[in-house]
Amino acid sequence: MGKIIVMVGAPGAGKGTQARLLAEHFGYPQISTGEILREMAQADTSLGREIRELQAAGRLVSDDTLAEVILSRTSQPDCADGYILDGFPRTLKQAAMLEDLARKQGKEVVLVRVVVSDEALMKRVTGRRNCPCCKEIYNIYFKPPKNDNVCDNHPEAQLEHRADDNPETVRARLATYDEKTRPLIDYYRKDGLLQTVDGRGDAESIYKEIVRIITAQ
Ligand code: ADP
Repeated sequence: MGKIIVMVGAPGAGKGTQARLLAEHFGYPQISTGEILREMAQADTSLGREIRELQAAGRLVSDDTLAEVILSRTSQPDCADGYILDGFPRTLKQAAMLEDLARKQGKEVVLVRVVVSDEALMKRVTGRRNCPCCKEIYNIYFKPPKNDNVCDNHPEAQLEHRADDNPETVRARLATYDEKTRPLIDYYRKDGLLQTVDGRGDAESIYKEIVRIITAQ
C-alpha cells in the first residue's frame, strides 16, 4: 500500500530538511504547504494578499484553503505511489481531512514527530537560509555555507532569508503551534499512531532513524 509520510513538529524542528532527504530515499514527492502557500502569496489577488498577511503574522491560513491546496496537489500523478507531507496537518480539522483523503486514496498514514527544545528552535529558525535554486537549507549558526551567503552548489545564487524567520514572527509561530498544532500530538499519541524522534542530532543520523522507523512498519 502506498504511504503518506507526515512530518510533525514545531517550526524549526527540521521537518523540511528531513522531508527532503526522505523524498529522495523513497522516491516520493515532498509536499511543503508552507512553500506552496509562499508561492501563492506572491499573486496580486485577494487570496494572495490574505496569505501574505497571515504568514507575516505567524498565523495559520484557513483550513478551507489548505483543503484545496492538498486535494489538488495530491491528485497529481507523481503522488500515486505515495508522498511526504511537510507542514500539514496543523489543526485537528486538517487531521480529519487527512484521514479522509488517505481512505479515499487507499494509502497508509505514517506520522513522524521530530522533537527539539524551544531554545534551539529559535536559533534554528532565525539562522535559516535557503538556496533559491536547489532549495538546500543552511543555517548561519550550525551549517554555514562555505562562502558567506551563497550556496555551495550554486555560487551564483545569494541565499534567501524567509520574511517570517525573524524573532518576532517566530515567537508568534511558536505560540500558534502550541495553540493549534500541539493538540494534534495528543490526538495521535492516544491512538498510538505517532513515532517520535529526537531532533537534536545531525540531520543524517536523524534521517537514518526515521527511515528505520518507516521501513519497520
Ligand atoms: P514552519 O513549519 O517552519 O513554521 P512552514 O514553511 O511550514 O514553516 O509554514 C510557514 C507558514 O505557512 C505558517 O506559519 C502558516 O502561516 C502557513 N502554513 C503552512 N502550512 C499550513 C497549514 N497546514 N495550515 C495553515 N497554515 C499553514
